[in-house]
Amino acid sequence: MFRGAPGVERAREIIERMGQQQIPTSPANYEIWTTHIAGVKPDLSREIEARLERGEPFTDETNEELFERFFANTRLSIQMLETSETIARELDDTVSNLRGAGDHAGSYAKVLQDAAAQFEGGVDSAEFRSVMDHLAVTTHEMIENQLKLAEQIEATSRQVQELQSALESVKVEALTDGLTGLANRRMFDETLRRRAADACADKSDLCLVMLDIDHFRRLNEVWGHSLGDQVLRYIASVLRAHAQGDVLAARYGGEEFVLIMPRTNLNLAEGLAARVSRAVKSKRLSLKSTGDVIGEVTVSVGVARFRDGEAVDDLVARAEACVRGAKAGGRDRVATDAQMDRQNAA
Ligand code: GH3
Ligand code: MG
Ligand code: MG
Repeated sequence: MFRGAPGVERAREIIERMGQQQIPTSPANYEIWTTHIAGVKPDLSREIEARLERGEPFTDETNEELFERFFANTRLSIQMLETSETIARELDDTVSNLRGAGDHAGSYAKVLQDAAAQFEGGVDSAEFRSVMDHLAVTTHEMIENQLKLAEQIEATSRQVQELQSALESVKVEALTDGLTGLANRRMFDETLRRRAADACADKSDLCLVMLDIDHFRRLNEVWGHSLGDQVLRYIASVLRAHAQGDVLAARYGGEEFVLIMPRTNLNLAEGLAARVSRAVKSKRLSLKSTGDVIGEVTVSVGVARFRDGEAVDDLVARAEACVRGAKAGGRDRVATDAQMDRQNAA
């Protein structure tokens, strides 16, 4: 989350403040305090500030309770933190190994200096031999040490690479919907917030398309849940095929999907929504096992355009209202917030 030098400063501040309250730096506690200091969860910050003001201690129980209340659905990010902690520990070990080698090199330099000093004073051959022997032994030790260190570094950096790729796959898993392979709700929330900030910053368009399968409950009841799951995967594949460029397709909920469309005006978004809806409907689905024809599946689609400065929740609420409008209008159709506004005004 925090990279580079300012990141290190930030991490230090977080750890320092946790230290002041004698809070162990477990991943969960670190998550609580990172979030508090970043100020992104006002409710959490209020709670912490109030506790600080009352001078109440942060016991293990308090910390657990805070985590349960504010981070119950972020277990995966904890997993990420734990993995990165392991990486940090590995790196730490490497650094202390390197320091050890530095000390060794220091004493080797001292041996060389001593030898040089003895030569300056003039040496007889016995003395010369003893100094040379000492040098040979020390040099040998030095080389052995360097080899050992090189091996250690090699092994550690291999481990670090493995951990990094594990971290990467945990991250991908944490942001992907297991059934459809699309981005999940969490990825959607994060992306939408970022895209809205971009749209505000460069005064560009941003549209949100939301789809809900028509009579999906009936489909489940008649053909079974596993056919329902297949239909969800089918719709995900249609969305994936239509989500080009920086359009993000995500599973929003059970049988609801979304497309985030940056730099896209309402007309273009509506056009894409209509194409997706036609593509979904165009396939005659049938049961593989029996060949029974299921027929067409339709979707109701809402399209809302981001209004400069509004909260993303309002944009989402408008897209949801459009879906309800499309359902009320008879399903299998696209409704935009502009149409809804006109209807409401009439
Ligand atoms: P409407 O046209 O009004 O949207 O009717 P609907 O039946 O689709 O409405 P509703 O949203 O109430 O139904 C959602 C159903 O979706 C309920 C649940 O059985 C089903 N569902 C949700 N998630 C899954 C899932 O992961 N797999 C399957 N097979 N079904 C799911
Ligand atoms: Mg629904
Ligand atoms: Mg539905």
